[in-house]
Amino acid sequence: MGTAYKRIVIVGGGTAGWMTALAVKAAQPGSTVELVESEEIGIVGVGEATFPSIRDFHASVGVDETEFLRATHGTFKLGIQFRDWRAQGEHYFHTFGNFADVAGPTCLWGQYRRVDDPTLGVLGDQCLPTVMATQGRFAKPPKDQGNLYTYAYHFDANLYAVFLRTIAVKRGVRRTEGRIVEVMRRADGGVDRLKLEDGRAVAGDLFIDCSGFSSLLLGRTLEEPWVDFSHWLPVDRAWAVSSAPTGAAITPYTRATALEAGWAWRIPLIDRIGNGHVFSSRYIDEDRARQQLLDQLDGPALAEPRLLRFTTGHRERFWVHNVVALGLSSGFLEPLESTSIMMIQRGLHHMLEALKPGVPPAAPVVDAYNRSMTKMYARIRDFIILHYCLTGRRDSEFWRDMVTKELPDTLVFKMHAWRQTGALNLYSTAEGFESSSWLAIYAGMGTWPEFLDPVLNEVPLEEARQALRQRREQIAAMAATMPAHDDYLRSVLRK
Ligand SMILES: Cc1cc2nc3c(=O)[nH]c(=O)nc-3n(C[C@H](O)[C@H](O)[C@H](O)COP(=O)(O)OP(=O)(O)OC[C@H]3O[C@@H](n4cnc5c(N)ncnc54)[C@H](O)[C@@H]3O)c2cc1C
Repeated sequence: MGTAYKRIVIVGGGTAGWMTALAVKAAQPGSTVELVESEEIGIVGVGEATFPSIRDFHASVGVDETEFLRATHGTFKLGIQFRDWRAQGEHYFHTFGNFADVAGPTCLWGQYRRVDDPTLGVLGDQCLPTVMATQGRFAKPPKDQGNLYTYAYHFDANLYAVFLRTIAVKRGVRRTEGRIVEVMRRADGGVDRLKLEDGRAVAGDLFIDCSGFSSLLLGRTLEEPWVDFSHWLPVDRAWAVSSAPTGAAITPYTRATALEAGWAWRIPLIDRIGNGHVFSSRYIDEDRARQQLLDQLDGPALAEPRLLRFTTGHRERFWVHNVVALGLSSGFLEPLESTSIMMIQRGLHHMLEALKPGVPPAAPVVDAYNRSMTKMYARIRDFIILHYCLTGRRDSEFWRDMVTKELPDTLVFKMHAWRQTGALNLYSTAEGFESSSWLAIYAGMGTWPEFLDPVLNEVPLEEARQALRQRREQIAAMAATMPAHDDYLRSVLRK
């Protein structure tokens, strides 16, 4: 065991940096926390659709929801609408809700398939937040029925960083503005201090690299190799632009529309819409991709589109010597399921667990951290690939290639188990997505098991039909009593 990490230095003041600053300050009261950022370099400024776990983060660091929504021009998010993924003209929802039982005699999707009655509509009609999203409604789940569904947010990434920074600085995080020009190493290979452009030095015991795509410490300084996912996920560019609102209702969901060589996001905020086109430069040139984004906009663009370049994958290790990387400096998966901020949070959680005794963790603890982050990346990668590999689209070279790619073994196994047995729970959901999420994508893409479990026959067919009909009607009635998302948002912001 070494001596305590007395001085914790965070490099970078984007979403990753300021989330880390707040969490570390709360968890390590005996340490000083200093964050170095450069306004001249700025932050990536995208990353505006989130996952419900962000609410746990806010609760853990004491962020008030109304203040957060006001400060970041935020809106509520029930999930994602996928347009044109299975076939052009079709769409489905992946919301943060459940489909009741996913196995056994009362397995909801199993009975739905067995009953096979078109008057029951789509499987999504059996999921409350999906119906709410379809109707543009929002209300928080009743406190006593918290497992009915959950929700996340859309927010302005630049405003979010400022919001978290204001709170963190008030709580005693030291903010140092300046460009880091040199990283000085210790004899054991770790980082000793950072040299700023104006000659100042920032020394520390633990360095948390939140420097974004530049990966200043883990990538550039420690030269940790990159694990490349681009043979599975070939998108490598994104055009991003905001557009003016059109006066139409603010949708309580993100939209992801499949295009010729990638897909476009639409993220509704209070006063603007965030848009982007994630594409593969192997299949489409930048100008055409830019035009395809502009063609998607509901209203006029508010600026020139910005181009971002990236490679999907992650660093081989996430924690090396006294450097831990969080956020884009550690890896990136395309934002199809809004997972990056959630992954920052999971990394933070595991890192703080490892730091609990207040001293540098022993090597096996660091190894376990690296293993768990690697696994999380693989699980989420598989879930994202699922959206592509089940497509029925053959209208462009990109889509034709996406269905013929060799898949990771873990995904092959998971899809095989689904097709043969209807099993959804194969790996720990703590590493990736819940069964209900896998089910939403399989159902949306029209991929079902070849056989139905005979245990379903324990329920008489007519009883199963009635149960599904009743659930569908109850859900529709419940959704119909809820306020429109805009009205709900206004009522929250008025508080
Ligand atoms: C196209 C795209 C869309 C995305 N969409 C989503 C989404 O919908 N949902 C989601 O969860 N995530 C999304 N992400 C990911 C999300 O944007 C990031 O995970 C999140 O913003 C965290 O970024 P960061 O803090 O790691 O990096 P950044 O925001 O880039 O911050 C890096 C910081 O490091 C500082 N820095 C760098 N070099 C130096 C230096 N030499 N000296 C001093 N300071 C330095 C910078 O000034 C900055 O403060 C998206 C990413 C991309 C590229």
